[in-house]
Amino acid sequence: MTSLASQQHAAPGDTLKRVTLKQAKATCPYCGVGCVVDVKSRDDRFVQITADPATAPNFGMLCPKGALLFKSDNPERRLTTPMMREHKDAPLREASWKEALTFIAGRITAIRDKRGQDRIAFYGSGQLDTEASYLFTKLFKGYLRTNQMDTNSRLCMSSAVAGYVKAFGSDGPPTCYADIESADTFVVLGANMTANHPVLFNRVRRRRATSDTSRIVVIDPRRSKTAEFADLHLPVKPGGDVALLLLVMRRLIELGELDRPFIDQHTEGYADLSALLENCDPRELHRLSGINADQIDAFAGMLAGDRRLLSFYCMGANQSTSGVDKNTAIINVHLMLGEVGKVGSGPFSLTGQPNAMGGREVGYLCHQLPGYRKVTDASHRAQMEEHWGIPAGSIQPTPGRSAVPMFQAAADGEIDVLWIACTNPAVSMPNVSISQAGLKRTGLVIVQDCFADTETAHYADVLLPAATWGEKSGTMTNSERLVTRSRAVKNAPGKAVPDWQIVAAVGRTMGFDGFDYTSPKQVWDELRQTTAGTLCDLSGMTNERLEQGGIHWPCPSEDHPGEPRRYTDQAFPTPTGRARFHAESPKQTDEQADPDYPLGVTTGRVAAQWHTRARTGNVPELVRQAPEPFIEINPLDADTHQIEDGQWVYAIGKRGRALAKARVTDSVGVGTVFLPFHWGDSFHPETTANFVTNDAVDSVSLQPELKFAAVRIEPAPAPTLEGVRS
Ligand code: SF4
Repeated sequence: MTSLASQQHAAPGDTLKRVTLKQAKATCPYCGVGCVVDVKSRDDRFVQITADPATAPNFGMLCPKGALLFKSDNPERRLTTPMMREHKDAPLREASWKEALTFIAGRITAIRDKRGQDRIAFYGSGQLDTEASYLFTKLFKGYLRTNQMDTNSRLCMSSAVAGYVKAFGSDGPPTCYADIESADTFVVLGANMTANHPVLFNRVRRRRATSDTSRIVVIDPRRSKTAEFADLHLPVKPGGDVALLLLVMRRLIELGELDRPFIDQHTEGYADLSALLENCDPRELHRLSGINADQIDAFAGMLAGDRRLLSFYCMGANQSTSGVDKNTAIINVHLMLGEVGKVGSGPFSLTGQPNAMGGREVGYLCHQLPGYRKVTDASHRAQMEEHWGIPAGSIQPTPGRSAVPMFQAAADGEIDVLWIACTNPAVSMPNVSISQAGLKRTGLVIVQDCFADTETAHYADVLLPAATWGEKSGTMTNSERLVTRSRAVKNAPGKAVPDWQIVAAVGRTMGFDGFDYTSPKQVWDELRQTTAGTLCDLSGMTNERLEQGGIHWPCPSEDHPGEPRRYTDQAFPTPTGRARFHAESPKQTDEQADPDYPLGVTTGRVAAQWHTRARTGNVPELVRQAPEPFIEINPLDADTHQIEDGQWVYAIGKRGRALAKARVTDSVGVGTVFLPFHWGDSFHPETTANFVTNDAVDSVSLQPELKFAAVRIEPAPAPTLEGVRS
């Protein structure tokens, strides 16, 4: 491993201490299930991945992506040394760490002094470990005194965060994976768990197979693989989820299924919801949802009686201009039935990325501070200024720009420095042409990544080589609030070092005294203390304890076992101690299908690929399963548009077009097409799905609408694909 013990204050990576064969536990870097794997390396190459049947949360199970992790590195693609150019028209050249750090520190200082700190921005990732996320927050919000930082969690989780805070007074799920083995009815809304959380869905299927009372309801416009396992699939119209949930709430009331004692003693706001349900027009709700009365009856029947209800939901709920309303509507159902804080029940938001939860704990979104604090709260700012030993008033009181406005501001010439770590916004942002224009226009683009050739790296003025998974030690928090610690098992190549070291080195080079760390343990010990006494208390989790296995937060002392299930006392962290109902009518997106764009495209993922394929694109077995971009289209729509199965087509929307191969299938309903978003420029210049997606955002969570854009389909010439990076 890279050792900084002997290189305090040196530029990272200038000296490396090599060690021999390693074997250790690490957390899978893909989805929010957070599987723990046993990794072996030999001669600085990963050679084997296994999983221990005794270790939570996966107990020996792995999906193909996890099992093939040992093939996910590609030495030829690695960024092994800093690269930089002084001017946009100069080519990138190799640089030493000292040269790159001095250049970055000088440019950031000059911009801050001449044009203001809010012209410096950071865009990060739920794949960064918690230590790096914490240091970015400390550097930007504490020392650079700007809240202009956000991450790709804005694109996947921010509606869930807002939904939990509105209903319960706190982010973070009330439930845990162990509830699967006690649940009766599983509701899976807007989550294709077989593809995106496969190990978790295996547990759901096992429960379904071994319990007479267990049932699975899947709410999804698409008949996904997950829906094929359902006892009841409700093919809701895109955006029709709130209408569907209002219908089932009405039916539960008619059936007399409410838990009145729970509602009366532990909630508030039910009267408003009750009035909304009484006054809404069921015919309109059926029209908006596309779900008929018999289907609602069947759904309500699976919720009725003494049944424990566990709901899983993900991007289909969150990536919407009404994402927060969808989240609170799901929670409303749980509150009506009293299905919170009990074994086998609860509303469970799944995280897409491995450390989306950890990043939230340390405040890496533009409105947050560590310990679920907010920049808008004066006492929270003062607490963090004291923790960080910085002058009162250092932390700014207004949130910075969230992800979509950040890239728009870059495109408008309002950002001078944009530092991007561990993510690929040149492919993954909605309405991606804006983000690409922002990357082109920003004076200094710093890209910190392990691979040299991501689509975003092509815009970089400085490239900083980061260690990848298996080459660094650090912590992550999975979907169920379980904190696990990964250990490094091989050296990073060349001058690459862990992300936390890079942030700390920039801080030191800028002359800040709060970045004098020599190990991730030091960072962890500091950050866990900043959470002491907060809702997401990590203070009792020492590295030594985490070496023995994962711990659920809150964990307020070193002898505390952690808390897998929250709100078991039915006391909620709201001002009144009660959970809150929310009465929201269905809202339609501004963009609707019209004669020019008669179809609605919904984006998503496939089981064999991960995000923009930076890692899964290196694994031949996974590439063979999902070799090229495709678009699913219903046979009737294919007929109308004269599209043949296997033909290349353009999905043409109001913002751009994307190239994909047609798959004619009744998995999608008439009027809807499904387009996975994995294939960016490195595959082909026209296959980026986000050329067509909508960057309108939810007004509360600021999460963009990635699940609906109006398009038409036209035949396209078959592209030349020789030489593309798989
Ligand atoms: S289920 Fe998720 S965390 Fe587990 S091995 Fe698969 S991708 Fe990794």
